[in-house]
Amino acid sequence: MKMIDSHAHLYYDSYRDLPEVLERAEEAGVTQIICIGTDLQSSEKCIELAEKHPQLFATVGIHPHEAKMAPVQYLNFLENFLHHPKVVALGEIGLDYHYNHSSPDIQKRVFREQLELANSVEIPVVIHSRKSDDDLLYCIRKSNSKNGVVHCFSSGVETAKQLIEIGFYISFTGIVTFGNNETEEVIRAIDINSIMIETDSPYLSPIPFRGKRNEPAFVKYVAEKIAELKDISVEEVANLTTINTQKLFTQLTN
Ligand SMILES: [Zn+2]
Ligand SMILES: [Zn+2]
Repeated sequence: MKMIDSHAHLYYDSYRDLPEVLERAEEAGVTQIICIGTDLQSSEKCIELAEKHPQLFATVGIHPHEAKMAPVQYLNFLENFLHHPKVVALGEIGLDYHYNHSSPDIQKRVFREQLELANSVEIPVVIHSRKSDDDLLYCIRKSNSKNGVVHCFSSGVETAKQLIEIGFYISFTGIVTFGNNETEEVIRAIDINSIMIETDSPYLSPIPFRGKRNEPAFVKYVAEKIAELKDISVEEVANLTTINTQKLFTQLTN
């Protein structure tokens, strides 16, 4: 069984044992891992990790939490990073109105600027969205963006369907094992061809590791839960989500 962890933050100090973490991922069948940047510094770290490990790929971007800290020239820095052969997407970018670490106005500006940059260089986006459905759809539609994934999906069926209609994928984390009815309803309602799986390591460990540090090997618990909800085999979930992820992030198969 082969899987891709489409979203992990492996640059934290808590991964001092990264070689062992990557070994366990390989043993679990995780063949590729996308390391996700949240500001310029972590984006650079993702690229360094991807240069060192063939199974790792990188994204670069400014997370909504960090939007107010983005330096004036941040778009130039990101554009330079995007030329790297192991950078597969711009992200994570988006809106988070649950925490509002940056004001909604700043979040929207930085989100839209990055959507436009991604469009101009024709690279997909990895989107983070929390309690921001209306503005999320508005910004995506305004930018004419059609190529991306909304990760750690936490909205309802209607938003999922609208995103899929635009051309986006929907990605799920270990939260699916927590027994949240709305998320389960979304998974049942949408086509498997629009689904991706991820850990969002080191956060959101699935049951039976809830509360502990997460790692890419645990993505199989996400696949198992989706298999149960869709009443198909876990091999099928692994296989189809791998195909979906490689369709979106085309560098994975180059
Ligand atoms: Zn996120
Ligand atoms: Zn993340």
